[in-house]
Amino acid sequence: MRLQRTIRNEVIFSGVGVHSGRRATVRLLPAAPDSGVVFHRVDKNMTIRAHVSAITETAFCTTLGNEHFRIRTVEHLLAAAAGLGVDNLTVELDGPEVPILDGSSLTVVSALLDAGIARQGKVMPHLRILQPVTYEDAHARVVALPYEGRRMTYRIDFNGSALGRQELRLELSERSFMEEIAPARTFGFLKDVESLKANGLAQGGSLANAIVIGDEGILNPTGLRYRDEFVRHKMLDAVGDLSLVGMPILGHIILEKAGHRANANFLLQLLSSPEAYSIVTEADHARVDALR
Ligand SMILES: [Zn+2]
Repeated sequence: MRLQRTIRNEVIFSGVGVHSGRRATVRLLPAAPDSGVVFHRVDKNMTIRAHVSAITETAFCTTLGNEHFRIRTVEHLLAAAAGLGVDNLTVELDGPEVPILDGSSLTVVSALLDAGIARQGKVMPHLRILQPVTYEDAHARVVALPYEGRRMTYRIDFNGSALGRQELRLELSERSFMEEIAPARTFGFLKDVESLKANGLAQGGSLANAIVIGDEGILNPTGLRYRDEFVRHKMLDAVGDLSLVGMPILGHIILEKAGHRANANFLLQLLSSPEAYSIVTEADHARVDALR
């Protein structure tokens, strides 16, 4: 039986937002059982729980908010929390965007480990896939299948670019997340950078926080962290975005060319298909135990 978890101590880091270019300081704090991940913008004194219902935008990053305020680029921080099984966490920040740091989840993973992970006195519910659920649009496909564990398969196909076709299948665990996923950096194409900047995006983007792909290949002088770093980062994004369902998913999630919008739409479709899932809680803990 897996108990809920939070962190033992508070921890602080800061950096620049990749899209806004604004600096922000983030303070991670312990939170009570059943809190989930809660963002608090201290400069606006406004709070929002990380949940798919709080997504306001999915272009180039995942943005949470409401009519009063927004928090951009939450996905890499959410991935770190979900990847390490930190269910309950307060995230204070003093700006409109979570810092991009090195473009991966490594700094947040280190911060959470430094803070110490604490078990709490309550079982963590899981969402179990009972029947296949498929989300599909012109660009992407996300499928959830029943599976006795937490498996994720990701396929990307950037025809005619340095990325090409990459596929990764993983059994999600804290260890596999830290070793295979967390260090993978975000990426973009040099040909898109100018239009992104002209549209007020990627203001804080640089070779220090993103892999940039030009016509001749990778521009970063230090190269790649993994040969297939791109599909690994897409999986990192998916771990973060799919955590917005509010609990770990027991099943096999297969993502093809999906981005933040497809991830969010998949969750909405899943939640509107009550016959396709059940919530595993304490009464069913023997089964959860067998899976961990
Ligand atoms: Zn990302």
